Amino acid sequence: MTPFSPAKLKAFRAALLTWFDKNGKSYPWRETTDPWAILVSEMMLQQTTVASVIANRRFEKFLTEFPDLSTIAEASEEKILRAWEGLGYYNRVRNLQKTAQAVLQDHGGQFPKDATSLLTLPGIGRYTAGAVSSFAFNEPAPIVDGNIARVLARLFDYREAIDSTTGQKQLWTWAEQLLDIESPRLFNSAIMELGQTECSPRSPACLTCPVQTFCQAQNPAELPVKKPRKKFVAIDEHAIFILKNDHLLLAEGTGTRRKGFWHLPLRTAKEIAHCEAAFTSKYTITHHKVTVSLYLLEEDQLPNSLSEGEHFHPVNTLEDLPIPSPIRRIIQKALT
Ligand code: SF4
Repeated sequence: MTPFSPAKLKAFRAALLTWFDKNGKSYPWRETTDPWAILVSEMMLQQTTVASVIANRRFEKFLTEFPDLSTIAEASEEKILRAWEGLGYYNRVRNLQKTAQAVLQDHGGQFPKDATSLLTLPGIGRYTAGAVSSFAFNEPAPIVDGNIARVLARLFDYREAIDSTTGQKQLWTWAEQLLDIESPRLFNSAIMELGQTECSPRSPACLTCPVQTFCQAQNPAELPVKKPRKKFVAIDEHAIFILKNDHLLLAEGTGTRRKGFWHLPLRTAKEIAHCEAAFTSKYTITHHKVTVSLYLLEEDQLPNSLSEGEHFHPVNTLEDLPIPSPIRRIIQKALT
């Protein structure tokens, strides 16, 4: 069942597009229809705010370093991780590289236009496929991100958890039904921006909202409903800091969270029990709250010998190494 009558649907689209025409913001990724640039922006904005990407010119800098598919396809892992440093969730940049390689190998270097074909590329989910298809090629592909989900849940006063299977199915159905197939690029940008600006999470501006007459929300601030959050897990880490002749001891990362990066070497609480921490530092990553205690040691105080993957690096080369931002901040604090 369509959410609105044909006449109401037409009026809804017109109201939204007229508002966007007057109020739509200009972002660098809205000034291009290059699918590679749009894919980069979508990956970047998945877990990083627009304000942060804009303020630090991350989008422009990344595209200067990797202007096309070939440049990133051939780059070393170290180089792509370094270019993504500070943005976190590094699988996003690994996926960008895999996507570039797949487009070159399987599609002759040309991105497919339709969302169904884009979905077959590594690391591209339903939202990203729809975004690239509609923003780059103006194809009639719906999208649902966090902002659009909030708008839809409020428009239809939806009380199911939007991150449940049923909730997701319903939102995608509405997104498809509302989409203006004459102007998918503009429509998707407009509804997303409505969520970013007027229909904000805590204080929706219903009085000035362009689609207020279509909205069924009884108490918008209570929507959308979500499943209960996963609890944070506390982790205590004991990192050692050994500087010898302007060389710092670092450990090669292993495991999904650390692979490809250089870290301060870790020791167990028992191994380091005889030493006193110089300072502690806290950071959050996914659903972990990490407390790092840092021990400034001389090499002969090292509990046990060097472990596999631990090497001294000249301090003046640290800038070029991929090091997670929280660890880089700890190193900088210890060096000053
Ligand atoms: S009227 Fe309010 S709740 Fe409804 S879409 Fe507009 S801003 Fe959101």
